[in-house]
Amino acid sequence: MKHTQQCPKCEGRRLWVVERFRLPGEAGPGAELPVVTHHEKGGLFTLGRASPVGRFNLWVCATCGFSELWAEGLEGLRDDPSAGIRLVDQSLDAAGPFR
Ligand SMILES: [Zn+2]
Repeated sequence: MKHTQQCPKCEGRRLWVVERFRLPGEAGPGAELPVVTHHEKGGLFTLGRASPVGRFNLWVCATCGFSELWAEGLEGLRDDPSAGIRLVDQSLDAAGPFR
């Protein structure tokens, strides 16, 4: 939808774009939805620190409501399988010329 500027379900061409999609809040604009929140471990006397990474832009078809979330700002994302965050990289660069 983002690239074609057309809904893939109904072929509609009126699309809403909600940049930096937020979770609705009781007051104010609500909290921006991060792609992931890495948790930094705290020291002996300190709590850990939440480190949100990334954000979403929401694309919604005005005709049928079909929606897509597009992530951006992923530069700080870290591979952390114990937290359920892993990178599946099948690109040629990752495989290297000699396997
Ligand atoms: Zn549609």
